[in-house]
Amino acid sequence: MRDKHSALLRQWAFEVNQVWNEANSRSAELSWVPIPGFGWMNLGTSAFDLQKDLKDFSKERAPSLHSHSVQEVIAVHAKSRKQFKTNKLKWRCSGGAKRALGWVPFKVGSAVWKDGQVRFNGHFFKVWDSYGPSQYKFRSGSFSEDSRGRWYFNVVIESPLEQTKNASAIGIDLGLKDYATCSNGVKLEAKQQYRQMEVKLGIAQRAGNKKQVKTIHAKIKNRRKDALHKFSRELVNNHGTIVIGNVSSSKLAKTKMAKSVLDAGWFMLKTQLSYKAKGQGVLFVEVDEAYSTQACSCCGSIPASSPKGRTGLGVREWVCSDCGAEHDRDINAACNILNLGLGYQAPVDGIPAL
Ligand SMILES: [Zn+2]
Repeated sequence: MRDKHSALLRQWAFEVNQVWNEANSRSAELSWVPIPGFGWMNLGTSAFDLQKDLKDFSKERAPSLHSHSVQEVIAVHAKSRKQFKTNKLKWRCSGGAKRALGWVPFKVGSAVWKDGQVRFNGHFFKVWDSYGPSQYKFRSGSFSEDSRGRWYFNVVIESPLEQTKNASAIGIDLGLKDYATCSNGVKLEAKQQYRQMEVKLGIAQRAGNKKQVKTIHAKIKNRRKDALHKFSRELVNNHGTIVIGNVSSSKLAKTKMAKSVLDAGWFMLKTQLSYKAKGQGVLFVEVDEAYSTQACSCCGSIPASSPKGRTGLGVREWVCSDCGAEHDRDINAACNILNLGLGYQAPVDGIPAL
């Protein structure tokens, strides 16, 4: 979330702690009930009882907190007591060395997506929108703070659970020049979109403006993430089967780009495809991409003319010397990956033709 919301969230988090600590002391007190002729008995306190008991308290000491948050704090408190079989939990300190990280829970119905922002408790919150929250219905969740004082909006969403009716299948080759190439020829370019920002980055770096450098880096990262989300969403919406190649280390060894950047991008794309596919009943398969560059996706052989080894690295286009098919290097690889995923034999002697 954006930093400008921190002050308000910190206030709510403070009130959450007030309610929590009061629930803590009261549950410890109220659990023990005198039984005439027997003594004291630990009967525990339910969230429902505490809810009633804390009504006046929360009105007075947590005036700006949403009533749903109050209820959720008490509910979580009761649940934890049960889990740890105790009447009393740790206190939530709002300051000092033992300060609890900010936490503002809410129940289903109180946070909604409206006009491109999260609306909660009479306020609008800008969030870094990467997952397309507008497509989902929010359930319960929380605002939470990390150790660096940054706030995050966590929410359980209602997945549309629309099962795909697409019968088409697509293969994806993960690469260096292009992040990903599909068997239908669509490519996700790794660099193109960031060129403009890279120019700005260079200027800021030369000027020694550290803050700006940091900001631009963050922007590039976010744009990349968004591009991957768009790309994966489109694939999942349009295909019933998605096959992806695992990335060979030889590919990584010969790149000028930072390994971590590529790794992170590939991993992010795979993760997104995996969960989005699951949500819509799309089959997502990962296959061994060995030989996918060398084999001809038309005839299945590994012809003498295909790109191989170090010398083959620069080859972008080639013609199969066995069957005469013309290939774009990466699209051919993506087709081979697709064939593999659809259950054709592993390319030991080349990939059998479709
Ligand atoms: Zn061929």
